[in-house]
Amino acid sequence: MRGKNRHKYIFVVGGVMSGVGKGIATSSIGTILQSKGFVVSLIKADPYLNVDAGTMNPVEHGEVFVLESGLETDQDMGNYERFLNKNMPVENYMTNGMIFKYVIDKERALGYHGKCVEPVYHITEEILDRIARSVSKTNAEFTIFEIGGTVGEYQNAIFLEAARLLKIRYPGDVMFAMVSYLPVPGSVGEMKTKLTQNAIRQLNSYGIQPDLIIARSEVPIDARRKEKIALANGVSSENIIAAPDIKSIYEVPINFERDGLSERILKHFNLRPKQKDLVEWRKFVSKSQRAKKKLRIAVVGKYFDTGDFVLSDAYVSVIEAIKFSSYWQDATPELEWINSKHYENGKRKVSELKDYDGLIVPGGFGSTGVEGIIEAIRFAREHKIPYLGLCYGMQLAVVEFARHVGKLKGAHTIEVDSETPHPIIGIMGEQKDKLSKSNYGGSMRLGAYPAILKKGTHAHKAYNSQIISERHRHRYEVNPEYIERLEQAGLIFSGMSPDGKLCEIAELPKEVHPFFLATQFHPEFKARPLSPHPLFSAFVKAILKK
Ligand code: GLN
Repeated sequence: MRGKNRHKYIFVVGGVMSGVGKGIATSSIGTILQSKGFVVSLIKADPYLNVDAGTMNPVEHGEVFVLESGLETDQDMGNYERFLNKNMPVENYMTNGMIFKYVIDKERALGYHGKCVEPVYHITEEILDRIARSVSKTNAEFTIFEIGGTVGEYQNAIFLEAARLLKIRYPGDVMFAMVSYLPVPGSVGEMKTKLTQNAIRQLNSYGIQPDLIIARSEVPIDARRKEKIALANGVSSENIIAAPDIKSIYEVPINFERDGLSERILKHFNLRPKQKDLVEWRKFVSKSQRAKKKLRIAVVGKYFDTGDFVLSDAYVSVIEAIKFSSYWQDATPELEWINSKHYENGKRKVSELKDYDGLIVPGGFGSTGVEGIIEAIRFAREHKIPYLGLCYGMQLAVVEFARHVGKLKGAHTIEVDSETPHPIIGIMGEQKDKLSKSNYGGSMRLGAYPAILKKGTHAHKAYNSQIISERHRHRYEVNPEYIERLEQAGLIFSGMSPDGKLCEIAELPKEVHPFFLATQFHPEFKARPLSPHPLFSAFVKAILKK
C-alpha cells in the first residue's frame, strides 16, 4: 500500500471500565466516516479462549450474532452491521481462542518448519494477517478495529501489541482512540478526570499513545476538563470528544459530530470529506423520535428470568428489528417479556394475550417452558393475534398446528421428546452424528442459505421476490415426512430450500388468520435501521391494520 490512498486504521480501546459503549462508539465512528463517503469496515477482537461465541450462554454473555458466513460472533458484530448497513466478512471477528487454535494447529502440522513458535511474532502476525485479508476483501479505506476488554487486562495485551506493530509499519496511517469513562460522583458533584488520566498512562505502558479520547459520562465533558487531560497526557484537547449519556444508541453518531469527531479524524489523516454527512441517518433518528402509535407486543420465551438488563442483551437483534420496522411506520414498540413457564405453573394465563397487539416467539433451545410457548402460540392462532415465530418459534408453531389442527396427538420436536409418536420436528441428518460425538462448537446449520418463496403468500408479498437468502442457526427441522399432512390440514410452507427439502417459512392463509408467519431462519440478523426487514415490517403492518 503506497501513495496517497493508503489504507487507514483506527484502533478503539477501552479505558477505566467496560460496559460504557465501546461497540456503539466503534459503530458510530464507522457510520460517520461512511456517511462522509469512505468505505468502512469494522473488526472486533474478543479476548476469550472460546474459538467463537457460539458456545457461550446468551443469558450470561448476550446474543450470539451470526454472520453470512455462519461464524457465530459477539453481539457487537450485529451493531456493526446495523450501523453500517452492510455485511461483515468472516475475517472481521476474532478471539484469542480462534487465533491461538489456528497457530497451534499449524505448529502441530509442522507449518512453521521447525521454528520456535511464539506469541509475539506468530500470534501478532496472524492477527495482522487477518486484518490484511479483511482489508482486501472489503476494499475498505478505513478499518476500525475494536479491541475487547479494558486496557490493563492481561488478556487483550496481544491485540494491543499487534496494533502497536502495525503503527510501526504504517506510522501515518494508524490512529488510536480510547473510549474512557469520567464519573461524576454524587458526593463530589463534579466530573473527575483522574481515572482517565491513569487509563491513558496504562495504555502508554504498552507503547501506545492515544490520538483521540471519547469521553463517556453522564454529561458532556467541559473545556476545563478537556484541558486537564490534554495537559496531563499530551492528547490535544480538540481530540477529546464529549459523549454524554443519551436516550437511543442511534443518536450517538449525531452526537459525536456535534463535537467535531469526523473532522478530528480526517485532520489526523490529512483527508477531506467526500460528501455531506448522515442525511439518511438523521431521517431515521427523527422518525424514531416522532413515532407516535404504541404497539404492545408480547415476547414469549424462556431466557427471561434474569431481569430486564440481561434480557435485552440476549435478544438484541430481535428488539432492534422490531424497532426499525415500527419507526418507519410511525409506531413505537413496547415489548413485554413473558416467561412461558408462568403459563405452565398458573402464575399467568395465556388469555392475557388478548390484550396485546402481537406475539413474537424468538429462538431458543431445550425443553424448559416449551408447553407454555405452545399454549401461547395456540392462543394467538385461535384469536387471530398477529404472530411472528423465529426459529424455535417456527418449530413450536408447527408442533402446535400439528397437535391441534392436524389432530396428531402427542406431536412434538424430538429435541424435547425423543419418543414422540409424531416427530414433527426431527433432527437434520448430519447433526445426529455431530451430537453423538459431542461436537457442539460451530456445528449447527449456520449462516446464509437461499429459499424459494410461493407466490400469493404473506412471505412472497413481504419480500416482493421469489428467491431470498437468510441466516440460520439450528440443528432441528420440520420432518419432511409430515409436510404433506400438514399442508392438507391447511398450513402453508411458503418458503422452501431450493432442493425442496427443508421448510424455511410456515404460515397460515390470509383467509384464516390476519398474520401468522414463522421462519426457520433468523430474519432479525439482517434487519437494519436504514433497511428494515420485510417480514418484521409485514408483521407491524398487520398489527396496525388490526
Ligand atoms: N433448538 C432449535 C434447533 O436447534 C431452534 C434453534 C433456534 O431457535 N436458534 O433447531
